[in-house]
Amino acid sequence: MLTRVLVDTRALRHNISMLSERLTPGALLAPTVKSNAYGHGLVLTARTFLEAGADWLCVNAVYEAAQLRAAGITAPLYVLGYVGPEEVEEALRLGCRMVLYNPEALEVAAPLARRLGVPARFHLKVETGNNRQGLLPEAALALARRVVATPGCELEGVATHFANVEDTTDHTYARLQMARFADLCGRLEAEGIRVKLRHLANSAATILWPEAHLDMVRTGIASYGMWPSSETLVAAMLADRHRIALEPALSWVCRIAQVKDVEAGEFVGYGCTWRTTHRTRLAVLPVGYYDGYDRGLSHAAYVLICGRRAPLLGRVCMNIIMVDVTDIPEAALDGEAVLLGRSGEERITAEQLASWAGTINYEITTRINERIPRVEAPSGGG
Ligand SMILES: *Cc1c(COP(=O)(O)O)cnc(C)c1O
Repeated sequence: MLTRVLVDTRALRHNISMLSERLTPGALLAPTVKSNAYGHGLVLTARTFLEAGADWLCVNAVYEAAQLRAAGITAPLYVLGYVGPEEVEEALRLGCRMVLYNPEALEVAAPLARRLGVPARFHLKVETGNNRQGLLPEAALALARRVVATPGCELEGVATHFANVEDTTDHTYARLQMARFADLCGRLEAEGIRVKLRHLANSAATILWPEAHLDMVRTGIASYGMWPSSETLVAAMLADRHRIALEPALSWVCRIAQVKDVEAGEFVGYGCTWRTTHRTRLAVLPVGYYDGYDRGLSHAAYVLICGRRAPLLGRVCMNIIMVDVTDIPEAALDGEAVLLGRSGEERITAEQLASWAGTINYEITTRINERIPRVEAPSGGG
């Protein structure tokens, strides 16, 4: 295969066991494997997480749950994203837990659950300040009352999601969201509505606040060995939790498709945006924005070849990039180029690519095209 994503499953296991050791006793670890496991490969990652001690898995959509079940994974699955009315039956058959923030979903699920003879298990999403999914407290309480009064339906969980816990070292707003959530949980309890699983912590909150673990945590990015942001790293260091050693698990490599010399004064690539100032040796690589190598990396990035940096020349094409290997005489046809990961003493991180492309590490790995094979790396290959 010309292009491959190498996944260091030892690193993934390390991250999961480290997160699970730090959990408040009794809290469940429910890492999120949505978006092809943040680009790491859904099934390979899900199996690795479960072997390493994950209790549940979070997915975004029913099709992801179906892929996990087809692969023989029996762990509890929580669907974080919208489930359309036409998908509810499949979600129930797959035994998925569903996030709930529309009364309509209850109306669709209840008769289906009774007909199939399986419980429809919901986690009520409460709006605490992200204004994404969720219901304000009054509406959430009203829906909670309806769920518990509906035969075949169960209110298993109550959840919310932070807006900016990883974007700042000032956690006033996140604390306010946590207080609003605690208030809602208290009101449910006061009405005698017992809910098994209260959860709100993403990676940043899990790392920073043991008191946010409650009954379950939904760790995404940290499970893959990446920090949610530099602000979270700084906050963790200030709180003396920096000994959390996360290990990135993903590398992305391709093979050199052509090596050639061009004269001084030649243009390279679309738009003639690069012009050589001296005789230049180019390596042509069979990777482009279709593969998830962001076009914003044009003129901004380098790749690693034989442990050295080869700068990108010109624009990222749909399926091709050109890099400068004038000073890398070992660069040869079919040799390896590292787009993300290590080569010799050099390393390109998802954070580095993100900063060049003007985005975040999450987007860099999740957008690596699913068609590219994910293969288990030899240990230590992250
Ligand atoms: C993706 C997601 C998470 C995980 O967030 P990270 O920052 O990657 O840890 C948690 N909860 C919800 C609702 C999500 O959509």
